[in-house]
Parts: sequence; C-alpha cells; structure tokens
Amino acid sequence: MPVVIGKRLDSTTQYDANSFTGRSLTTMHTLSPMPASSHAKPVDSFPQAVELEKALSRDVRGEVRFDRGSRAMYATDGSNYRQIPIGLVVPRDTEDVMAAIAACRKYDAPVLPRGAGTSLAGQCCNVAVVLDFTKYMNRILELDPERSFARVQPGVVLDTLRNLAERHQLTFAPDPSTHNRCTIGGMIGNNSCGTHSLLGGKTVDNIEELHILLYDGTEMTVGPTAESEVDLIIQGGGRRGEIYGKLRSIRDQYGDQVRARFPRIPRRVSGFNLDELLPEQGFNVARALVGTEGTCATVLDAKVRLIHSPQHRALVGVGYRDAFIAADHVPEVLKFDPIGYEGFEGSIVDGLRAKGAAKLDLLPEGRGIVMVEFGADDPEHARSLAQQLIDRLKEGPHAPNTRLYTKEEARHVWSLRESGPRAAAFAPGAKPQWEGWDDAAVAPEKLGDYLRDIRKLLDEYGYTGAFYGHYGHGCIHMRVSFDLQSEAGIRSYGEFVERAADLVVSYGGSLSGEHGDGQSRGALLPKMFGPELMNAFREFKAAWDPHNHLNPHKVVDAYLPTENLRLGSDYKPHEPKTHFKFLGDDGSFANAAARCIGVGACRKLDGGSMCPSYMVTLEEEHSTRGRAHMLFEMLQGEVIDGGWRNEEVKKALDLCLACKACKSECPANVDIATYKSEFLSHYYEGRLRPLRAYAFGMIDQWAGLAARAPRTANGLSNAPGFNQLLRKALGLAPQREIPRFAIANFQQWARKHSVPDCDSQCSHAAQESASDGREVILWADTFNNYFRPGTSQAAHEVLTDAGFNVRVPQKHLCCGRPLYDFGMLDRAKKYLQRILQVLGPQIDAGIPIVVLEPSCASVFRDELANLFPADARADRLRRQTCLLSEFLAKAPGYQPPRLSQKVLLHGHCHHKSVMKMTDEEALLRRMGVELRTLDSGCCGMAGPFGFEKDKYEVSQAVGERVLLPAVRQAGPDTIVLTDGFSCREQIFQATGHHAVHLAELLQIALRH
Ligand SMILES: Cc1cc2nc3c(=O)[nH]c(=O)nc-3n(C[C@H](O)[C@H](O)[C@H](O)COP(=O)(O)OP(=O)(O)OC[C@H]3O[C@@H](n4cnc5c(N)ncnc54)[C@H](O)[C@@H]3O)c2cc1C
Ligand code: SF4
Repeated sequence: MPVVIGKRLDSTTQYDANSFTGRSLTTMHTLSPMPASSHAKPVDSFPQAVELEKALSRDVRGEVRFDRGSRAMYATDGSNYRQIPIGLVVPRDTEDVMAAIAACRKYDAPVLPRGAGTSLAGQCCNVAVVLDFTKYMNRILELDPERSFARVQPGVVLDTLRNLAERHQLTFAPDPSTHNRCTIGGMIGNNSCGTHSLLGGKTVDNIEELHILLYDGTEMTVGPTAESEVDLIIQGGGRRGEIYGKLRSIRDQYGDQVRARFPRIPRRVSGFNLDELLPEQGFNVARALVGTEGTCATVLDAKVRLIHSPQHRALVGVGYRDAFIAADHVPEVLKFDPIGYEGFEGSIVDGLRAKGAAKLDLLPEGRGIVMVEFGADDPEHARSLAQQLIDRLKEGPHAPNTRLYTKEEARHVWSLRESGPRAAAFAPGAKPQWEGWDDAAVAPEKLGDYLRDIRKLLDEYGYTGAFYGHYGHGCIHMRVSFDLQSEAGIRSYGEFVERAADLVVSYGGSLSGEHGDGQSRGALLPKMFGPELMNAFREFKAAWDPHNHLNPHKVVDAYLPTENLRLGSDYKPHEPKTHFKFLGDDGSFANAAARCIGVGACRKLDGGSMCPSYMVTLEEEHSTRGRAHMLFEMLQGEVIDGGWRNEEVKKALDLCLACKACKSECPANVDIATYKSEFLSHYYEGRLRPLRAYAFGMIDQWAGLAARAPRTANGLSNAPGFNQLLRKALGLAPQREIPRFAIANFQQWARKHSVPDCDSQCSHAAQESASDGREVILWADTFNNYFRPGTSQAAHEVLTDAGFNVRVPQKHLCCGRPLYDFGMLDRAKKYLQRILQVLGPQIDAGIPIVVLEPSCASVFRDELANLFPADARADRLRRQTCLLSEFLAKAPGYQPPRLSQKVLLHGHCHHKSVMKMTDEEALLRRMGVELRTLDSGCCGMAGPFGFEKDKYEVSQAVGERVLLPAVRQAGPDTIVLTDGFSCREQIFQATGHHAVHLAELLQIALRH
C-alpha cells in the first residue's frame, strides 16, 4: 500500500513553468508555489503509532522510544528542515534492524536510517520511524591490511575506521569536515567527500560491497556484477532476480542518457549513481546504491576499500587577492598533484577574528586563501613537492603570498578550515546564515567564472555568504543570509535557488557536489537531469522500495525546498521572561535555543570537553544538540508541551555537567549550562526543590556555620548512622567521601596573620594604593576558604612574594556558583548584588580580584554579565576578575620561581572554556617545568554532580575516559596540577593522588 504521509508531488504539476512571478526565470523547470504554511506541523499524524510502538517494543532488543522528547530530538538534522518522526529505534544488531523493519512493514510505517544526523539537505529528517545506528551498531567487523579493505557496521564513526587503518598506513580517503562524528552509513547514504577525495575519490569510489535490507524484508549483499552473473541472478528469480532485472532494463533504457547528461566532473553528487550500472563500470549495484540517502535500502554492513595513506604531509598556505583569483589558479595548482586543496574567503577570517579565534596569524595575507597539501612517504619528498609549488607561484607579476607550515602549524590551519566557516557565521553582529545553496560543483577550470556569477546573483538578491570549500574539486560551500522567517523571504529563497540551479546547469555542473540532494535540491533535479533521467531515478527507487516507505519524498518526488522549514513564516516561539538577559541573542531565549544548527560537533569522541555525558552514554539527549533541540521544541509547544514544567526537557538537561564546554567548542556557541539554569529556575518556580539543592546550592551558608565548630561538623557528618541518614536525605552516592571542613579556614588564618581586609572602611586606602598597581584582592571562595585553605595561603604567599599588597574580603561573600546548578537564580542575583555593594569601592578603584577557583571566576566573567549586562560596576568586576595565572602572566616584571619538575596539567572545564589555558601554560613553561597538558575534557565531578547517587556512574565514566588513567600512570616524580576544587576531589577520591593548585606549585617552587 502506498504511503500517504506527507505530500507526494505529482510530476505533472511539480514543474510548472509559470508558477513564480517577478524575476525572469531562465529554464523551463520551476517549482510549485510556496505552500501556505512552510513550517512543519504534523505531530501525531501516524494513526497506528501506539500499536506500532507495542510491536517494536516486543520484537526489538534495543531501545524503542516513541515519547515526545525523543521525537523532538530527532526532528531535525543539520539542515533547515524539521519533520516530527513517528518514533525512534536504537537497534542492537542486524537482527534488531530486521525485526524493526518487519514491525514497521506490518503497520505501513515509513523508515529513516540515521547516522550522526549531520546531513545538510534535509535527507535525515522525516515523518518516519528513525533507526539510529550510532549507539550499538558501531563496530569494525574486519580490517584486512593485506587486501586493503574493512567491513564495518553502519554506525562506525569515520575517524574510528581511519585511526585503525592508519596503523597499517591505510586510510578511507573521503573525509568530510565532520570526520570525527559522521558515520560510514551516513557517508554511504550521502556519497560523502572531503579534502582527501582528491587522493581517493568520493565514498562511491571506495565501496566494494554492501549488505543491505529492503523494506520488504529482503536481505542481500550487492557489489560489482559480471554480465553473466546478472543473467544468472535474473534467471534465479525471486525478489533479487526481479530487482536485478529492473536495474538492467533501467541501464539499457537510459544508459545513453546517463552517458550524455551526467556531468563529467569530479564532484557530481546529485541524482542516483546510475552510471555505476553501465557495463563500463561493471554493473556495480553497491555503488549505484551509494548516495541514495536512505531512500532505497538500509545498509547493515559495508565492505570498504582502504588505500595507502601517505605518511608525511606538507601543507602550503597561499593568499590571493580574492576568492575569484584563487579559483582561477586551480588548474595551475592541480598540475602539482596535491592530495588536498581547500580554501576560504577573507571574510571568514574577519568573522573568526571578531570571535577572538586563535592562531589566525598562521594564515597568509590575502582575501582568497587556499591550503594545498602534498603527501609522500618520505618527509623530504613531501616538502620538496610543496616547495616546487611555492617556487612556481613566486614567478610572475602578481605572485600570491605563500607559507610552508610545520606539522603543528598545519594541524591548526586545518582546524581553522574545518570549523572556521561555521564559527565565523556566528560572529558578533553577523546576520543569520543558512544552508540551502551550499555545495554546488563545477569543473575546476570553470570555478573562477562560476564564483563571479554566483556572487552577482547573491548581490542581486541582497544576500551575503562567504565562499569556502574544496577548490581542487570545484566544489564551493556558502551559508547564505536567506530570510526563512517571512513569506517574502522564503519566496525569495525559492527563487534564488532556482536561479542558482540554472546557473550551475549552464556551467555543466552538479547542484550538489558533496552534501546530497535531500529536500534542498531534490525538486530542482529535473533542471540538471531532465524528465527522462528523472523517470529513471523514479524507476530505480521503485525497484528497491516500490511503495515509497524508505525516507519518502527525499531526492525523488521530493518535498519542495520551501516546505517543512525548521523556522518558516509561521514560526512563533514562546518568548518567556528570563533571568539571564541573552543580549547576544537580541534578548530572546527562543533565539538562544534556536542557535543549534545541528552540525553535531557535540557528538565527537576524540577530544575536547564537549559534551562529557554524551561521550560516555552515546545518547543524543546528552549531546548539546539534543538538549538544544529539546529547548527549541519546548518553546514551540507542538511536540513538547507543558513549557518550563516539562519532565522530558528536565531529564535531558539532568546529565549536563554545566561544564560550559559547548559555549566555546560548539561553532554556534550554544550555552546549555546557562539554558539549564534558566530552565531549572522556572521548573521549580513556586515549588520546593529536592533537599540536596538547598544543601549543595547554599553550601557557603552551611560551611559558614560549620566553621564555628568544624571538628563537630566533621565528626557528625561521618558518624555512623548520621552519615547514612545524611546520604539518604541528600541522595549522595555511597562511594563518595564527604569532604572535610578545615579546622581553621583561610579567613581566620588571614585575620590571625593580620592580612588587611577590604571592607568598606578601608576603601579610601584601597583607592589610593590601587593607583600604584600593587593592590590586589584575593577572593576567599567557599571551597578554598572552608575546605582547602592551604591553597589560598599559598596564593597569599606567592602574591606577597611578587610584591603585591594582598587584601582578603572578611565579610561573608560567595559568588554563588553552586546555585546555578539548581537554577536558584533569584538567590544567585542577590549574592552578586551583595558583592557589587560590599566590594563597590575596590571595584570602582580598579583593584584586580584574583580568584583561585575557576568555576567562581567564571561566575564573574560569564554569568554576571548575562544577568546584569547594563550594570557598569558588574562590567568592571568582570574585567577585573582574573585567575592567578592570568594575573601573574600579565604582572609587569614578574619572574616566576623556577622548578625542575614533571607536571601533568588538567584544566578545569570553566578554565578551558571561559578563561582559556594559555596563561597557565605560559607561566608553567616560564617556571621551567616539564609540562604535559592533558586533553582530558571534564573530570566528571563538576561540583555536586559527581556526589549525586544517580549520577555517580556517569561521573566516574567521564573521569575514567582520560584523566584518571593518566593520573594513575603518572610516576611518583610527577606533580598533577589542576586549579578546580572538584577536579582535585575527583582525582583524590578515585586514585588517592593529591593534585595541587597552581598556587601550591608556585609555593613549592618558592620554598625550593
Ligand atoms: C559542519 C558540517 C560540515 C560538513 N562537511 C562535509 C564535507 O566536508 N563533506 C561531505 O561530504 N559532507 C559534509 N557534511 C555533511 C555530512 O556531515 C556528511 O554527509 C556525513 O557523511 C553524513 O554522515 P552522518 O553519519 O551524519 O549521516 P546522516 O546525516 O545520519 O545520514 C545521511 C544519509 O544517509 C542515510 N543513512 C544513514 N545510515 C544509513 C544506513 N545504515 N543505511 C542507509 N542509509 C543510511 C540517512 O538516511 C541520510 O539520508 C558536513 C556537515 C556539516 C554539518
Ligand atoms: S555545558 Fe558541558 S555538559 Fe552541558 S551540554 Fe554543554 S558541553 Fe555538555
């Protein structure tokens, strides 16, 4: 029975030549008028969802989730589109996939296979049952270095395969920028390419066999097929014979059209790969299925080709006057046989500069920058190839600027290329930019002219969008400032993509040169291929999936580019009143929650800190993207209802460690820690929080009380009976030790040692001495004051030795960091107001405030500005707050004491995200220590998080990823250094190792 969900476009009405008025159109194919509502609506459109869920739950061993939260999270991919899925299945293995598809078949439910969901053309969202392969079906089944192939499950992340292959000097050549999270299944779906497609082609060129499952339950393995074998298969009959018969007649009927109309360029990704069925290609059925975007068959596993990986690389940066000239020179550079050839426009560098990106000075001067990589097994050979190019480019009157990079520099330059364009699109003041016309390709020798023409077209429509991408293959990306929120804007977008498609076709190019057709380009394909080949595509799809159950209405008979938009003209999210001001998002929480563009960088597992809980659970709901999508949907109120009181949103946010990594590592700077605080503040409005919120959130108060009789407090909290009661009441993990209060806290010590305080009566003196630049306030944070006063004492000694007059606040002041974890924002604001009042004279006098605990410093550097953006004193406090390393690094004439010592450095998440580790590392190097900085992400403790019983396991798993094993492996001659109180606690409780704060290390060096 044919599927009726969604809109099936009739080919006779779809290509209506007169549908748009206004600008003149250049070809016969134009799209239908824009639908009345461009914003995706149907939520519960599948009538038998309840029965289907029951059947799936019964038959599938993996997870089956039809709850609104799961559906909300999978409603979009990296594209502009949004369709609410019927439900989600996370299969454990091949049998599970079979069982899931069998159940779907029983209820006629469409199916959408999914990898990391980083697709950009809308092919990875649909009203369907989503099969997510990433959690369980992510194994490399076999890697044969002798015969250079691997067999992999669809959920294997590309880098996992590449890392294993590299041990044998092999690689899987196509490497999208998303290589650290995109899956082989998704790459096969999209026929993905990347920088090193120049070396080894597109995904299609690297697939040897596919083991597939059809919607009707047929399972088969397909690959190249000799003509005699094709005959035998057809004679053998059955479903397989039927399909091969149909494929052969498609080949015979349309073969000449394919030869004539398929562009012969390196990056033809649009359309189905019918060319692979031609006799000259060996009737390669596996390769014909590559790029079908989940519309024909589900890949269960794949045999992929591995090629030799040149062991040494040399990278040249070339700066031309502009992007057009850079493109004009592609044929000249290609003569040197590079293995990678990428580029971007100068405006991307401007955007990165506005965001304070590091290492931009590595880029050569020029507004059209390209990077050309050479590879060889001999390092000298690779460098000499690079040098030959440089020498050649220096000839002639308008020689571009060139640079040859070291290995380390090349790593930075590549990361600027990979994440820079999207990060730059979120530069302050930048207009929102969208995919939609982002990966067309032409022959490399025509690239310069194409770019000039597409720029003219962009200008005609008043759009901005910077060029970047794969110069060597003639494939250029751009995110464009389309207005996808007004009728006129969407109409204009529809017109633009038609004109752009006409332009590309006039160049003999491909509408998609990389990301696939999906919904962005599906309806435009007739322009490129003509009606006959469109029929061939339709027949191809029908051979595999006759009733259109697999990812329906993508690629062929596709939804219009203007349908199912994530925003759309009727996008009217709820705009709640908030505590945080979200000025970077025009004061709108809805805008903040809509920041996530789905690139999925938060799904990486190979380093960095974002997102610790995802790294150990592999659950989309624990990724920054999953959480952002939940909040986005909450404000729409269609899939997620109940607003701030919604339990599914709360659950998704529950395992966020508030590490703030996403704020700096996500290219869109999604800031879930802040959104979580905001959410919790409303979730608990008018009702009591769990007891532990008051216990941990207000720890400063309890610590202040305990300080009156610390021995009694310690005795009581560890007394048998009471200890158990306390743990039960607060939901503490039995494995955790409750930290002990210090017998004498730092403020008491400071009083005893006559350290001057900074209460208002001495404000006059403070103002006077501030002017000599030697006055400094040492912040007595709750943790280092009440639990580890030795750290603060060490800092006092170090600062005094450096010639500063150290003052310590003697009144009870707390930045309120733990309050944010529980959304106690009213109280948090009061804490900050009190600080601004008590320390007002010192702040106004410009006295720096040295904060030892990074999570406290980040309150002043981050939350404070978001809560009180218009308060001048708050802004001064933000600017005057620094960590010890930041303060000393900038202190004029300061010479740190030398120490000959191995140091293993772990950065607290807020240190890495808000303050950065640069000053800390620079200071340590100046001390002369043998430094090793860990790429350890989060320690897993994150304030109260790791103490909570229901989070203990995740907390441990996060710590065990990198940090804790590294600490255990560190020899006795190594000092483990980290400035976070939580990090030190996690290290101690898990390994028994006492890590030190920078202040303590400096003190050791001073006393040495
Ligand atoms: C920032 C950014 C940069 C990008 N850069 C590049 C780039 O350089 N080069 C490039 O080619 N692409 C790029 N892309 C697009 C995308 O990342 C790639 O196409 C990637 O390979 C998709 O992998 P995925 O696991 O996310 O697939 P998904 O998006 O999950 O799926 C892709 C398609 O494959 C289908 N599919 C998934 N699994 C299966 C299966 N088991 N059986 C059948 N079909 C399946 C899906 O239905 C879907 O149609 C980029 C995207 C982003 C967001
Ligand atoms: S704050 Fe940290 S834990 Fe929370 S979503 Fe962002 S990256 Fe993940």
